[in-house]
Amino acid sequence: MDSCDVLIVGGGPAGSSCAWSLRNSGLRIAILDKQLFPRHKVCGGWITPAVLDALQIELAEYAQGRTLQPITGFRTSYIGGPEVETHYGEPISYGIRRFEFDDYLLQRSGARLLQGEALTHLARSGEEWIVNGRLRCAMLVGAGGTFCPVARFLGAKVSREIVVAAQESEFEMDERQLFACSISGPVPELYFCSDMKGYGWCFRKQNLLNVGLGRLDQHQLSKHVGEFLKFLKAAGKLPLDAPPALGHAYLLFGVTPRNMVGEGVLLIGDAAGLAYPQSGEGIRPAVESGLLAGAVIAAAQGCYSRDRLDCYRTLLTERFGKSGTHSMTSIAGLLPTGLIGFAARRLLDTSWFARTVVLDRWFLHSNEPSIDAFLQHVN
Ligand SMILES: Cc1cc2nc3c(=O)[nH]c(=O)nc-3n(C[C@H](O)[C@H](O)[C@H](O)COP(=O)(O)OP(=O)(O)OC[C@H]3O[C@@H](n4cnc5c(N)ncnc54)[C@H](O)[C@@H]3O)c2cc1C
Repeated sequence: MDSCDVLIVGGGPAGSSCAWSLRNSGLRIAILDKQLFPRHKVCGGWITPAVLDALQIELAEYAQGRTLQPITGFRTSYIGGPEVETHYGEPISYGIRRFEFDDYLLQRSGARLLQGEALTHLARSGEEWIVNGRLRCAMLVGAGGTFCPVARFLGAKVSREIVVAAQESEFEMDERQLFACSISGPVPELYFCSDMKGYGWCFRKQNLLNVGLGRLDQHQLSKHVGEFLKFLKAAGKLPLDAPPALGHAYLLFGVTPRNMVGEGVLLIGDAAGLAYPQSGEGIRPAVESGLLAGAVIAAAQGCYSRDRLDCYRTLLTERFGKSGTHSMTSIAGLLPTGLIGFAARRLLDTSWFARTVVLDRWFLHSNEPSIDAFLQHVN
């Protein structure tokens, strides 16, 4: 039977970051993914600088042959309302393509890659895991996204959880469409739904356009997306009919918590349900939870009991807080339904609210310390 010390199920940003953090640990690390990389991933492809810092990614090196769109501001509004433009004068985010980004992270992770094989069978034998009846490991990391089989093994009831459902479409524009497109690469646009249960976006990444919409309420998502695309077209923002949007669902941190720790097992990224509740940003929590899990595994020195691993749960609470709100944006959770639309329109019209609350607090998390501050506590 094949074997490794740590098997990571899922080679997205969470899984590859966990492996990367263990690259000098002396442990034999393998990543199992059901897909062959590079693979498509439904996503807006917006990342914050904290992601690049945490993974020590050199911007110039990454940009060679890959899409990297610096973002220096945002345009915010409610759908159909006046737009507020906020400028920072320096990059405060980046646009990437998941097809390229995830493959880059996976190839530099240092792990043995087992691609094109899904985890279909999981069993415990003494202090070991037996995966697909052919692979033995002492430590298992569930990084397989929202529907991760390891999360199900730990008791996740996927059909009963409250999820964000989102759809996006990313496509290349030709010369004529590039000329006709009014979206600026450095200043992407965010449009909030009037009930504040979600938002749409329009990101230009060099010659690509990514448009999408995510909502906490899955009801009639395709209708909301269709109406949003119609609005963009009528407003002259979309220079062509966007190809059909693809969708996916994921969990927000603290909304429907999952059991993330067991004997010889941890969950990270979307498998643990960690996306930021206000913006739906999931890449940063995926990367950071991967790094925290890696540090906990290295510190455990081969003793992977639940008690030894339980500090991971504490670290996540310290890093991300106790619980999120039940809405994608804070005001929807604070006000009676009838007032939400009115309040949202008034607030989103002001440049103070757009910058201080929407961008700095909800989207950029400007006041949060870097993950290094939390990694130092692991021993
Ligand atoms: C429409 C949309 C737009 C989004 N936009 C953004 C954005 O702009 N910025 C942002 O930060 N976040 C965004 N997110 C959220 C973000 O995509 C996720 O939070 C992020 O991908 C989580 O990373 P992960 O590594 O945990 O999981 P994933 O990236 O989903 O990776 C999981 C991996 O596990 C593999 N896998 C699954 N099942 C198995 C199995 N049985 N066996 C083996 N392998 C398996 C999959 O093939 C996959 O490669 C968006 C999400 C959606 C749906």
